[in-house]
Amino acid sequence: MQKRGLELRRAEDSYVPAALIPTEDPQAALRFCQLLAHLYDNHSVDASSHLAAGFKSLQNPNEPVPELSVVIPVFNEEENVELLYSRLVTVLERIQIAFEIIFVDDGSNDASLATLQKLSAADERIQIVELARNFGHQVAITAGLDFARGHAVAVMDADLQDPPEVLPQFIAKWRDGNDVVYAVREQRKEGWLKRTSYAVFYRLLRHVSSIDIPLDAGD
Ligand code: UDP
Ligand code: MG
Repeated sequence: MQKRGLELRRAEDSYVPAALIPTEDPQAALRFCQLLAHLYDNHSVDASSHLAAGFKSLQNPNEPVPELSVVIPVFNEEENVELLYSRLVTVLERIQIAFEIIFVDDGSNDASLATLQKLSAADERIQIVELARNFGHQVAITAGLDFARGHAVAVMDADLQDPPEVLPQFIAKWRDGNDVVYAVREQRKEGWLKRTSYAVFYRLLRHVSSIDIPLDAGD
C-alpha cells in the first residue's frame, strides 16, 4: 500500500499541475477523488497522460450538468427495471427537465444488471453504478448520491412502489424553494400486522433519532 502511495505522489508531482486540482467546486472535487481512486485501484497511477486528461475533463465548464438526478437502488429487480425506466422517462420528458438516471446495482444475481446495461447503451442519460457485492438498500443509495451531478436528486425504489408519475409534484415543490421534499404514505396495501409494524418502526425511529424524521415517509 505504502509503495503505491509513493508512486501516486510521484506521478502527481511530475505531471499534474496543481492548478488543475479542483478545490473550489465540491462536485468537481468529489469527482476528482473518485477518478483518483479509480486509477489507484486499477494500478494505473503511472499513466500520467490519462491522469492529466481525466483531471481536465473534471474541470470542463462546458460539460452539461443535469437539473435532476434520479437515484435508484436495484437488487434483483429484473421484472421491474424496464417498466420503471419507460414510466420515468415518459414523465420526465413530459415536464421537459434535463435529467440523468443513476441505477445502482447492489450485487443483483438475476438479469437486472444486463437489462440496465442494455438500457444504458441506448440512452446516454442512464448511468450505472455497479457495486461489487450486495451492500444493502441504504449503502446503494449513498453510492448513487456520490455520483449524482444534478442540482436536485430524487431517490426512489426500483420496485414501482414509488410511482414515478408523482415526481413532477416533488419537482414543483423543490422549485418553490423547498430543500427537502418527501411524501407520506396515507394507505398501505399490506395486511394489518405489517402495517402496524411499519407504524411502530417509524415512531420508534423518530423517538431514538437526533434528527427530525417525518412519520410514515419513504426513504
Ligand atoms: N434494494 C437494494 N439492496 C438490497 C435490498 C433492496 O438495493 O439489499 C433495493 C430494491 O431493489 C428496491 C429498494 O432497495 O429498489 C427497496 O427495497 P425493498 O422494496 O425490498 O424495501 P421495502 O419496500 O420493503 O422498504
Ligand atoms: Mg419495496
